[in-house]
Amino acid sequence: MNGYYTGMKNEKDKILNAHRQHGRQFMGTQIVYPVLSRRSGGISIGVNLNIDKVCNFNCAYCQVDRSCQVKVDFSIETLEKELTEMIQLVLDGGLFEYEPFDQAPEKLRRLNDIALSGDGEPTASPYFLEACQEIVKIKEQLKLNDIKIIVITNSTMFNKEKVQLGLELLDKHNGEIWAKLDAGSEEYYKKVNQSKISFERILDNLLLVSQKRPIVIQTLMSNIDNEAPSESEIQNYIQRLEYIIANGGKIKHIQLHTIVRKTRQSNLTKLSDEQLDNIARMISNKIDVPLSKHYG
Ligand code: SF4
Repeated sequence: MNGYYTGMKNEKDKILNAHRQHGRQFMGTQIVYPVLSRRSGGISIGVNLNIDKVCNFNCAYCQVDRSCQVKVDFSIETLEKELTEMIQLVLDGGLFEYEPFDQAPEKLRRLNDIALSGDGEPTASPYFLEACQEIVKIKEQLKLNDIKIIVITNSTMFNKEKVQLGLELLDKHNGEIWAKLDAGSEEYYKKVNQSKISFERILDNLLLVSQKRPIVIQTLMSNIDNEAPSESEIQNYIQRLEYIIANGGKIKHIQLHTIVRKTRQSNLTKLSDEQLDNIARMISNKIDVPLSKHYG
């Protein structure tokens, strides 16, 4: 954490940066990491199931640094130890003695959730089901019934049986799915998410998973070569959501994001507040679901 605030101008900068810092390690941890989350209004403890940094997407906006590889293996034992200790550190307030969390406003000094996220696609990890079981076990031992377990996912693996079992377990323990959908057309999907997995599979999976429980749709849009997604791309995106809803899928929230950190491809830039507002308006005019805007 040392040196992170070099050049900071004032207290506001420090707090903003505390929000923006999403490092995957904290004081030597391998798997869990705390994040001061703007979205949730508290501390989110991230669980990185992909410490090997493997992902089945290659998003143009990805922020994972794959130039350096971690030479440790994931294990459920390490997850158990680190997660239990990190939860205790948040609950007893010890976390807020360390930078950047010492800058957190009082009202954000609370544990909000445990999030399966990290340096790749969590549901693609062979440990996904076991990790869900372990997290549920720890949550029950510590009587943290109100704490959410969020799966932040690119929607590629919902058709797999073990993933479905993991999600069904989380359904009973305050689980929530934040599923990525960044495009309305196959062409734009290929440009942004750059995966071998077909766009059709993503759409089928979103329908499958949302027919069983309400989900959150997480969408990131940006300028590519100084161009925002076209109006027809936005309309295609809206039609995808309409199709899900018309077929019994439940969407409880849409998060509309743009870029806030350095991206893998340098030809991406954040949407202006006005651009993001316009896209949000187009979506909200057609889709009757709460939408939150996350500016760059
Ligand atoms: S799904 Fe996430 S980790 Fe994978 S490439 Fe996209 S942004 Fe990066």
